Amino acid sequence: MGERIGIFGGTFDPVHVGHLVAAVNAKHALRLDRVIMMVANVPWQKVGRRSVSPAADRLALVEAAVGGVPGVEAGRAEIDRGGDSYTADTLQELSEAHPGAELFVLVGWDVAPELGTWARVEEVKRLASLVVVNRPGAGPPRGLDGRGWRVEEVTVPNLEISSTDLRERAAEGRPLDYLVPEAAVAVIRERGLYAVGR
Ligand code: ATP
Ligand code: MG
Repeated sequence: MGERIGIFGGTFDPVHVGHLVAAVNAKHALRLDRVIMMVANVPWQKVGRRSVSPAADRLALVEAAVGGVPGVEAGRAEIDRGGDSYTADTLQELSEAHPGAELFVLVGWDVAPELGTWARVEEVKRLASLVVVNRPGAGPPRGLDGRGWRVEEVTVPNLEISSTDLRERAAEGRPLDYLVPEAAVAVIRERGLYAVGR
């Protein structure tokens, strides 16, 4: 049997425990061998709407955050590839690198309704199963049935945490502790991200 690999893509600006709890619970529920937290190089759907921290900083945060979590790792393939990040390219690359592996793309409830806007979505459907996890602030996605997705639903603890809120907290000098893994908070401080301590 091939490896079962979860791909959890995100901007992770910054990574937070909501991401990690979703990753480990999806890993457990679906008996995945590992989950790759794939850091988007250019999250093209967010560009122009807000400023996105440099990819190298976001990767450093995810690397720090997953340090002690077995089977959860930081993915840098989209950064190494450069340019806009497309999940279809990432899956293509992974399926070539790991023939026989079963791929699972993880998304939260807020992202699931946007799948239709993804580039080359038919390729994504062909190459991977979709894993949908609950997230406060959004409802369960409708309209995935009959569109050719292989869907798995995983229920995770509801954690009302978002990177948007964390960036605001940091800018206002409010604490990120326990919402962001300690090692990642240290990287935020070291690098002076999100104007912490301004
Ligand atoms: P932003 O507010 O900047 O959009 P975010 O918190 O939504 O940040 P992203 O990097 O956009 O984080 O999300 C990456 C993936 O993680 C998405 O699939 C999203 O649905 C999922 N996700 C983010 N936060 C949670 C959470 N608290 N619970 C479950 N899933 C989450
Ligand atoms: Mg988001």
